[in-house]
Amino acid sequence: MTAHPDPLTRILALELANGCRDDVVIGGLSAFLLHWRATAATTVPAAAVDAIARALGEYAALSPADRKRRIAAAQLALRPSSAAGPAAAPVADAAPSTPTHPRRATTQPRQATPTPSAAPTRPPIGAGPPERGVDQGALDASVTTLSGVGAKLRADLERLGLRTVRDVLFHAPLRYRDFSRQVPIARVRPGDEVTIGARVVEVRRAPGKAVRSVLTIVVADDTGRLALTFFNQPYLANELRVGRAIVASGRAEVVGGRIGLASPEWEPAASAGTHTGRVVPIYPLVAGLGQRTLRRIIAAAVAQHADAVGDPVPSAVRAAEGLLGRAEAVRALHLGASLAEVERGRARLAFDELLALQLWARRRRLARAAVLAPDLSAGRPLQRAFIAQLPFTLTDAQERVVAEIEADLCAASPMSRLLQGDVGSGKTAVAGAAAVLCAGAGFQAAIMAPTELLADQHLRSLAPRLEAIGFERFEPDLARAITHDPAPDATPEHVDGRTLRYARLVGGMKPSEKAAVAEALGRGAIDIVFGTHALIQDRVAFARLGLAVIDEQHRFGVLQRSTLAGAADGPTPHTLIMTATPIPRTLAHVLNADLEQSVIDRLPPGRQPIRTLWLKPDERARAYAFVRQRIGQGEQAFIVCPLVEESERIDSPAATTLHERLQGSVFPDLHVGLLHGRMRPSEKEAVMADFQRGAIQILVATTVIEVGIDVPNATVMLIDGADRFGLAQLHQLRGRVGRGRAESFCLLLADDPSRTAAERLQAVAATSDGLALAERDLALRGPGDYFGTVQAGVIDRFRFARIVGDPGPLASAARVAAAVLARDPALALAEHEALRAAADAFAAGAERA
Ligand code: ADP
Ligand code: MG
Repeated sequence: MTAHPDPLTRILALELANGCRDDVVIGGLSAFLLHWRATAATTVPAAAVDAIARALGEYAALSPADRKRRIAAAQLALRPSSAAGPAAAPVADAAPSTPTHPRRATTQPRQATPTPSAAPTRPPIGAGPPERGVDQGALDASVTTLSGVGAKLRADLERLGLRTVRDVLFHAPLRYRDFSRQVPIARVRPGDEVTIGARVVEVRRAPGKAVRSVLTIVVADDTGRLALTFFNQPYLANELRVGRAIVASGRAEVVGGRIGLASPEWEPAASAGTHTGRVVPIYPLVAGLGQRTLRRIIAAAVAQHADAVGDPVPSAVRAAEGLLGRAEAVRALHLGASLAEVERGRARLAFDELLALQLWARRRRLARAAVLAPDLSAGRPLQRAFIAQLPFTLTDAQERVVAEIEADLCAASPMSRLLQGDVGSGKTAVAGAAAVLCAGAGFQAAIMAPTELLADQHLRSLAPRLEAIGFERFEPDLARAITHDPAPDATPEHVDGRTLRYARLVGGMKPSEKAAVAEALGRGAIDIVFGTHALIQDRVAFARLGLAVIDEQHRFGVLQRSTLAGAADGPTPHTLIMTATPIPRTLAHVLNADLEQSVIDRLPPGRQPIRTLWLKPDERARAYAFVRQRIGQGEQAFIVCPLVEESERIDSPAATTLHERLQGSVFPDLHVGLLHGRMRPSEKEAVMADFQRGAIQILVATTVIEVGIDVPNATVMLIDGADRFGLAQLHQLRGRVGRGRAESFCLLLADDPSRTAAERLQAVAATSDGLALAERDLALRGPGDYFGTVQAGVIDRFRFARIVGDPGPLASAARVAAAVLARDPALALAEHEALRAAADAFAAGAERA
């Protein structure tokens, strides 16, 4: 019944605000879009989804100007057709415009708002419990109860998502300008943010056309004169008359050889203090609503109602954690006297958000602990056998992680664990060990990957290891031959009595084969199945699924949570999610707070670090010569295709052209293969197999290879058009080499990198540590921006919390949440009512993501 702004709305706004660098979403906008399309159906009409997909397809390949155009087209398509209303971009502070989003004015508005999206519509978390002598009802009253807010303003505020007085109190400033420094005019220096108190001595109107009217007001104090320049506000001449005492704030600039303030904020001296002379908040706006108006409304609301917000955090806890009271925090947020004070206010409100997150995540874990999952301890001997016959010894990091997983799998409640490990860190062996533990205990395990190519790679690398411990491959054609297997209700004890089998199940197989595998899974005749995520999405009926391993690679920074529920009857399966996306730890703990985390933080021994070289555009020939030299030594190379603008929907034309050129004139004597997204799975597989066994020496590929291909003999990765890839993507691509013992190289070619692209290339060339790059990326982009990078209800609930390197605030929230839940796990006590509401509201957003 309500039109919720789609998460894409906010992402597009951020992308625009960030200069269309395609780095607002981990993996790039195109990758995000694939995921988005799968979930958008509920919020966006199908035709619009298609239009958006067309507009943003191949986004990474576009020039910045084209990117802007395409975003505009996508924003248009995103907008509910009824709301031909406010435009998104042109508002001064680039506040994301939000479609009207009616919200019921209930007594618990935060719970009624299921929008995991645009900032202005998000509800405050945890309003306080009623406090004696304070009128709570006033907070839930309409904005029209604020003085000076009539129907027109009510409508404007509503477009910002502000319906009640409470909404107004928690409207988060985007940033601040510190105008608290008041100086005599003689002491004004260019570049300073200053406030002056002066009298108007002269009014000058620029003569001529009214295209851009310029009004210059000369003011003076005892120490000197200064010009204030206003553009397109000719009516100000009526207010800023000669003789009037005013206060003006702004950044001092030199205009026409003289110092002045351009477009300053100003107020009559008699009533100054809202827009000048203090730390002035800059709020998100919508078209038609001015900054000054909003500031005035909010300041008045704070003065009148801040005390009513109450505080769900007991004062003893506040004292222990060094937090402001909530009312104080609201006052500081909007009216703080210094940036430090404002920051303390924000920190307190951020704490409330982190506390809600923690309560949500911890209660989710508690709930999970009460659910029954298979205890897989019986598989330990088989797991030991599996590990013993691997062709390498597990690294300490792998061993630790295997033990963490094993402990979870041998408990009777479902595991929900995230395994992070940089590319090449050896996650496959860990997944194999978990799957074998499961099979050995008589349950089925599914190992899933985002693409068939990757599914097959898991299969290729684990099949020999499984066969070494007695597994057989299940061949669909032989399905009939093994129908004499034990009944599907076989108990673990029977495992020893029959042959364990593994199988492959992917979309590209013949329907009859797929049916045979699915049938055998349903009958319990297959113990480990390798496939794509479709395995789960198609709801293949497993006889007794015990473990689902999901290799997400780097597709999303945030994991989808709900897909696995209901895949099996009976006990809930364990889940292990693997990702190669390096996420800074603090961020990971927020993004996936409800998951246990394991990290493989060391690469297997003997790896040569990958040497990354950023070449000049005219060094292409040198790069090719280098490739040739390595191939002369019996090694292999990837050449990643530049993303080109002409490429329509897909990357294949560019890859095909490059392949022709390289095979035809650069490396006519070598075998140059081609791999792109348009090829049929069987073709891709054949090419990969040829590359793997060395029949192809150079593989020209699009980013289809970026996920998890493992060819140890490949030692050179040449990335053409490297400036068009994001940081994470470059790092992922580079991870395709350096998997064997030979020294490996990544060569970056960029024709004309922008400044930000150059920064990226520099960073990638400087370090090979994915986590360090991620931290750096986080730092480069600043804390606020990072939340735009991920689509997740969890983060979308945040208006005040920021996650940077500092784990302090999170730890503090975790501490408090643990203490609260230890005493009152259901949050049933009256004193925890507000906390429970906050956690519930959080859950409503997070679990929808
Ligand atoms: P990823 O974490 O990217 O999935 P893989 O599991 O594909 O990494 O492992 C990368 C390569 O490292 C593979 O060739 C694998 O056989 C090898 N490998 C994994 N663990 C070890 C180890 N402990 N010692 C040596 N090589 C290992
Ligand atoms: Mg892998």
